[in-house]
Amino acid sequence: MCYEHDISDTISHRDTLPPPSVLRHVVDVHCHPTDSEITVKTMDNLPIIIGAMSTLQADQGLVRDLATAFPNKVVPSFGYHPWFTHWIALAPYESKEAHYRRIFKDADEHPEAFQKLLEHAPEPVTLQTVLEDVRQNLMDFPSAMLGEVGFDRAFRVSYDYFSSPGELSPFTTPFEHQLAILEAQLDLAAELGRNISMHSVKSQMATVELLDRMADRHGERWMKISIDIHSCGLSPQTWLSIEKRHPNVFLSLSTVINSRSPNHRALIAACSSRRILVESDSHKIDDSTQHTWDMVLIVAEVKGWLVESSWDEVVDESQQGVVRRLESNWREFVQGNHVGPNKLSKRTTRERQ
Ligand SMILES: [Zn+2]
Repeated sequence: MCYEHDISDTISHRDTLPPPSVLRHVVDVHCHPTDSEITVKTMDNLPIIIGAMSTLQADQGLVRDLATAFPNKVVPSFGYHPWFTHWIALAPYESKEAHYRRIFKDADEHPEAFQKLLEHAPEPVTLQTVLEDVRQNLMDFPSAMLGEVGFDRAFRVSYDYFSSPGELSPFTTPFEHQLAILEAQLDLAAELGRNISMHSVKSQMATVELLDRMADRHGERWMKISIDIHSCGLSPQTWLSIEKRHPNVFLSLSTVINSRSPNHRALIAACSSRRILVESDSHKIDDSTQHTWDMVLIVAEVKGWLVESSWDEVVDESQQGVVRRLESNWREFVQGNHVGPNKLSKRTTRERQ
């Protein structure tokens, strides 16, 4: 999730959706439908499949309910987003105030701001409770992913996220704190064999190091799962080095990133045709289809792929359009069980002998 202006209104293709027979094969791999009201009618009419993220304690249950009601349209995702990790205590704590003082080391420099933050801040939950919650939800939904989890060096903490999310305090959540909570959740995903939807903002090197560390730590288990780096602002160079070393890492892009990264098209061009996914990152289910479709068209344009206007069950490989290609990428993402780069090179060496 990223509150940036999106420019989909300026995209000339707006409101030209393909028929439902094509949309049925489109997957919005990352969105936040439970952030706004959802009606049964909207869900019944939803022509695509969505990956519904959860971000904080309050919406894990909402995502559960949505996935229970619409199992064929919703891939639920459970996890805790970096923007809310200051609510999580790594260990048992003495008092609410002591917890927040430990997180915000500069509390004394901004006494009034700290008091205001403290007034609105919830009672912290422990990391152990968070992990138990995520574990339970993942166990209850065998196709669920871990998400949205991640790290973010660009955000400041809101005073009161629920009533005025735009009013920001001077405080930032220490990177090490975010990382500890992220790694604990990734370890859980590896243990349970679940795919991951990950947020990474202004943390390029940290992302590279984290992926390397996870691959080392979890070995085969890590290669069984897939990781989607969502709406990322990675440079094409960083992405290419990740892509080469980590066959289980995918990239999903939304129109949100258009306005924020001049590298956007270069990133699409650089990314392997088999690792791209599309998403809306939308907070309204009504926008999900259009925003995802806008992104499908951008990918098609940059990659020079055909855009399906109707659906034929069987097509020649040379006639594969963007929807079919993205659908097959999503299938590989879901299936996991990737072959590691080390294994591949060992096999090649053996074959050569
Ligand atoms: Zn998101």
